[in-house]
Amino acid sequence: MGRCRAESHHQHAKSETGVIRKNWKGKTSIVLVFPNHYAVGLPNLGFQAVYRLLNGMDSVVCERAFLPESPGTVVSVESNSNLENFDIIAFSISFENDYLNLLTILQNVGIPLLSSNRHDSHPLVIAGGVACFINPEPIAHFIDCFLIGEAELMLPRFIDCVESSSNRSTLLTELAHNVPGAYVPAFYEDRYSSEGILESLTPVGKSPALRKITRVYVPHLDDIPTHSAVITPHSSFGDMYLIEVSRGCPHGCRFCSAGFVYRPPRFRPLPLLQECIRKGAEMSSRIGLVGAAVSDIPGLGFLCDQAREIGVQLSFSSLRADALTPDLVASMAQSRVKTATIAPDAGSERMRRVINKGITESQILNATTALVAAGIPNLKLYFMVGLPTETIEDVEAIVTLCRKVKDAFLESSRVLGHIGEMTISVNAFIPKPATPFQWAAMDAMPLLKKKLEMIFRGLKHVPNVRVEANSFKEAAIQAFLSRGDRRASDMLIMAVHNKGDWGKTFKETPRFSLAFYNQRQRSLNEVLPWDHIDNGVQKDFLEKEYLKAMEGKMSPPCPMSGCRLCGACDG
Ligand code: SF4
Repeated sequence: MGRCRAESHHQHAKSETGVIRKNWKGKTSIVLVFPNHYAVGLPNLGFQAVYRLLNGMDSVVCERAFLPESPGTVVSVESNSNLENFDIIAFSISFENDYLNLLTILQNVGIPLLSSNRHDSHPLVIAGGVACFINPEPIAHFIDCFLIGEAELMLPRFIDCVESSSNRSTLLTELAHNVPGAYVPAFYEDRYSSEGILESLTPVGKSPALRKITRVYVPHLDDIPTHSAVITPHSSFGDMYLIEVSRGCPHGCRFCSAGFVYRPPRFRPLPLLQECIRKGAEMSSRIGLVGAAVSDIPGLGFLCDQAREIGVQLSFSSLRADALTPDLVASMAQSRVKTATIAPDAGSERMRRVINKGITESQILNATTALVAAGIPNLKLYFMVGLPTETIEDVEAIVTLCRKVKDAFLESSRVLGHIGEMTISVNAFIPKPATPFQWAAMDAMPLLKKKLEMIFRGLKHVPNVRVEANSFKEAAIQAFLSRGDRRASDMLIMAVHNKGDWGKTFKETPRFSLAFYNQRQRSLNEVLPWDHIDNGVQKDFLEKEYLKAMEGKMSPPCPMSGCRLCGACDG
């Protein structure tokens, strides 16, 4: 493992005509690309953290690039340089639906789409981010090397290796051997049965690849503050200063990949968060706390008090209804929170047991009453349709629950003398890799639409209630790209050719059907395209959770230490 660092200075000089071209004042040049527009990419905390980390390294210069708003060549933000002039193009990918943008950007800057067509003269194309952790395969043909895991520990090793390798082929071999979390897809091959089902994905011949890629994980976040580096009104969060409060979530909702791939969950200590809030207040009067389990932060009430004292408005990416103590609600109201978000995710108690949500109807109603009574005027509720085992009665239960919440909302609002707005947001369930529902089928479009229509109709005449739904077509494409295998790359190339028209793309390639990928229930012994990625949680554990879900049985939350239940703490 130590080989890369030991050789780096020596090899560095030799590599002037190899991987590192040294035309950036003798430094390794990296362009960090967010494959979406500036307003979407800029506030992404993972993207900002990697940018800061890379620029903190003496031998590296890092610039940023985004998908352009209007036609034209993609260039870096800092120096207007063509991406081809960098040694490394590093994609940070949070959402599968950005894969098309990744291809568009490579095409735009004139770099061969397929890794197999690139030579020493081309930049190295790498990718990281949560979409890559859970299943890198749909874009495996386009990426020279994935970095699977958390950047803070991976990047120094990666940079050492890059700087010590004299050509692309040596570099890829060194990465596969010596850098934990580095996954070089070209060293693996996929085989399929006559029915088109993946049979194996294994290292090719005598390639240096390991059978399993183990994600890299930062055990403690105590010394690593992650927060906005730049704030601008031109981003989707406006001038809000964002602070990452935690990684992972202990509750184990069975549909949620963040709850499994970031295990064991980690929270930043209170003093560090207080310091971040102090700094944030110097830059903005609005601070957003980001994390999958914000309401579980030890000392959240203190943070609310601090925000109120220094006069900043606090926002939360999510809150659990069962965590809203009277003190916390009062602190939230005093720190000028205007809209509270609750995610029951399902309408019936039965369905919430299947997904292991762990909150009851009375907790949702009590939370509503408490939030509105404290002066937080607006409420947003998140639901999904198409969950495994869902019946029409479960969908009707969403309408029934929303009506009950509305009654509680109205009653509390009347006391205050003004009525806010309730928004019901409905999404299609997407079976995600690395979760207990990774084997589940997704509902077909007509059934999803029927369920959504039931909710629209059921709440149509309820005043002050607005129902909104994300595009189910986009959800279906996201599901395909989430669980796809390497053959999805052909579809991506065609979809770029068809200017993003997926309907046309699927019509033109009848051998690929969306139903095969989305509506097919996987058998428990099927080889899954992401089985070679070890995200910590064992497949056996996911299977047990899946079977418990089918029986409507709950599991307790992850205790975050001192157990070996799911396998994530074994490392
Ligand atoms: S092994 Fe136990 S403590 Fe560790 S992540 Fe899994 S459930 Fe949580």
